[in-house]
Amino acid sequence: MGGVRRLGYHISISGSMDLAFDRAREIGCTCMQIFPSNPRGWAVKELGKGEKEGFRRKGKAYNISPVFVHMPYLPNLASPKEDVYRKSVEAMKTALGRCNELGAEYLTVHLGSHLGTGVEAGRERVAAAINEVERSLGGVTILLENEAGQRNSVGSKLDELVDIYNSVSHKRVGFCLDTCHAFAAGYDIADRDVAKEVAETLGLERIRCIHLNDAKHELGSGLDRHADIGFGRIGRKGFESFFSVPGLKEKPMILETPLVETPKDARGELAAVRKMLGD
Ligand code: ZN
Ligand code: MN
Ligand code: MN
Repeated sequence: MGGVRRLGYHISISGSMDLAFDRAREIGCTCMQIFPSNPRGWAVKELGKGEKEGFRRKGKAYNISPVFVHMPYLPNLASPKEDVYRKSVEAMKTALGRCNELGAEYLTVHLGSHLGTGVEAGRERVAAAINEVERSLGGVTILLENEAGQRNSVGSKLDELVDIYNSVSHKRVGFCLDTCHAFAAGYDIADRDVAKEVAETLGLERIRCIHLNDAKHELGSGLDRHADIGFGRIGRKGFESFFSVPGLKEKPMILETPLVETPKDARGELAAVRKMLGD
């Protein structure tokens, strides 16, 4: 597969959303992920004057695409609490609206927690939520992200993701495969055969993004703690083996290792990843 390697980070939107592109370009990203608003709140403030235009203009000018918008943390699409569920569905509609304003292609969603009501009930609520937002999709495709195996989580097992996919009535949906989450949930993706099976279970063509994160804790820990690439339990060799599965290394990739809290040599890390990929 020719073309530009699509590799980037989750980038801060602080100040103005279009500034994310400047930050991304500065460190050499060719795609990026952002939050649509403050990730720890429900409120979404309106875009400032020129913010939308600036965003669209810079995306083209810098050739940074696709843009993945990641849902904020508070919504829980699997919640058995009616008020939280309703609020969460509305939050997804709002996020889709923001994606369409900005011209972002993908909305990445976590499937949330069933809070002890069982994975099947949780799965049904998530699928219903994704069906309900069909009319708000515009040009956006929703990506279901695998979870790390936390207690009561929906979507830590890949079969759950596939079941939800199959229960969605529209087909504007795909998967985001997070390597740290998969490893934490017990899939040893550092083993080529396991990685191959993971890709086959989800369906290679339905994986639209890879969250490229190393894992701080051991296989099956259930802990969502990312490590810098090559410095966690997956390790450089593990990633090289993962990427030897045909098709995986052509996917757009987003690193979600902290940039803001831990300033680091992001350019250096991207270069190391490119080397790992054989670029
Ligand atoms: Zn995520
Ligand atoms: Mn992720
Ligand atoms: Mn995570």
